[in-house]
Amino acid sequence: MDREELGIVFDHAARFLRSLPERPVRPEAAVAELRTELGLPLQPESIPAADVIRDLIAAAEPGLMGTTSPRFFGFVIGGTTPVALAADWLTTLWDQNAGLYASAPAASVAEETAARWLVDVLGLPPGTSTGFVTGGQMANFTCLAAARDHVLAEAGWDVERDGLQGAPRIRVIAGEERHSTIDRALRYLGLGETTARLVPADEQGRMRPDALEETLVEEDAPTIVCAQAGNVNSGSFDPLRPICEMSRQAGAWVHVDGAFGLWAAASPRLAHLLDGHDLADSWATDGHKWLNVPYDSGFAFCARPEAHRRAMQVHASYLIHAEDAERDPMDWNPEFSRRARGFAVYAAMRALGRGGITEMIERGCDNARRFADRLATADGVEVLNEVVLNQVLVAFGDDERTQEVVRRVQADGTCWLSGSRWRGRAVMRISVSNWATTADDVDRSVGAILAAAEAAQRLS
Ligand SMILES: *Cc1c(COP(=O)(O)O)cnc(C)c1O
Repeated sequence: MDREELGIVFDHAARFLRSLPERPVRPEAAVAELRTELGLPLQPESIPAADVIRDLIAAAEPGLMGTTSPRFFGFVIGGTTPVALAADWLTTLWDQNAGLYASAPAASVAEETAARWLVDVLGLPPGTSTGFVTGGQMANFTCLAAARDHVLAEAGWDVERDGLQGAPRIRVIAGEERHSTIDRALRYLGLGETTARLVPADEQGRMRPDALEETLVEEDAPTIVCAQAGNVNSGSFDPLRPICEMSRQAGAWVHVDGAFGLWAAASPRLAHLLDGHDLADSWATDGHKWLNVPYDSGFAFCARPEAHRRAMQVHASYLIHAEDAERDPMDWNPEFSRRARGFAVYAAMRALGRGGITEMIERGCDNARRFADRLATADGVEVLNEVVLNQVLVAFGDDERTQEVVRRVQADGTCWLSGSRWRGRAVMRISVSNWATTADDVDRSVGAILAAAEAAQRLS
């Protein structure tokens, strides 16, 4: 290869991918070491590309978290399927600016195709519009911008032209277990992050429809209801059918944050968890979590394309706007210039096929169930949630011991997961969202977790 730096990356990639199943999942280096290796002064002279790439690999590798390891169970992260990685490399190689059809025709069409597949696989109403965004945060933002536009338009106010100053007040209602990105999206939208009326949740973290009903009738105002499919701790689902039906009745917009939970729609076995989700007005989900495409990738879906487009579109005199028949991605997402992230989504979905997507989602849930079943039989170990999806919450006696077990598992390196708090208790939080995780990975990880629990016990 006459581009030496690319050859180096290619060799490193092969080695890195081969090492994933066995290398420690945790990073090896502490911050001081990384600063020594990476934190260099910017030198006056140029350095050949191949040398820079070689140095970068050597300096960064000890500081890499094994997020694409089959035994990474932290947060809700997901790995990268080989085909998605390959398509993502092409995306970088081609370096298309996916803002406009005129600057990236193939990217625009790959995106509209992937959008069609997504709407279908996720069980959303035909005609739903899609924005390809950086993740769940921006998907929530985009959907709630459309919601803000629509509920104010219904009240005779053009928020895109006139902003919020002097506008009718919007009432936002959200579950008390909403994800923090909902509050942040509301902040970005000028609605304030403490504006939402919070509806109490049940013991699994699901919004209580009876409590929502009481809140809805309190006042007649432009209203946005934020529901959730897939609680970030327990994996539970708000009861979407009653939520959507009573919100519709009240003339409210329903937004569903389904960053990973929306993927339950791909499985006939799991779809009941989402019953009624197609009655909502907008939905947010991620590609970089359960679809296992590389960062960054999320989707904003809207059943009211006019509101979605009004909230996002842009006009400038030098832009070449597409004919009606062509799709300008920037009309559907908040970015202007943008990476053509639709290529990886297109490739990932095509390689898996409908059946492969279903199987990947169900496999994740089966492995979460396996974690729960094996851990629950051990002495002094409690599984605290109903394992309905891919999330498992585990306690090891008191908070201190649970936190100590989490620390020991992280340091051991067989697998990686993190802690959280659930209903007033410290928990170990296990999220299975990597396509490559096998039953054997679960068993090895259970072994490491139980060994850590035993060591923590001996200590106390
Ligand atoms: C992860 C997550 C988000 C945020 O998504 P990002 O892709 O990290 O921006 C929002 N809501 C829920 C329920 C999530 O799990």
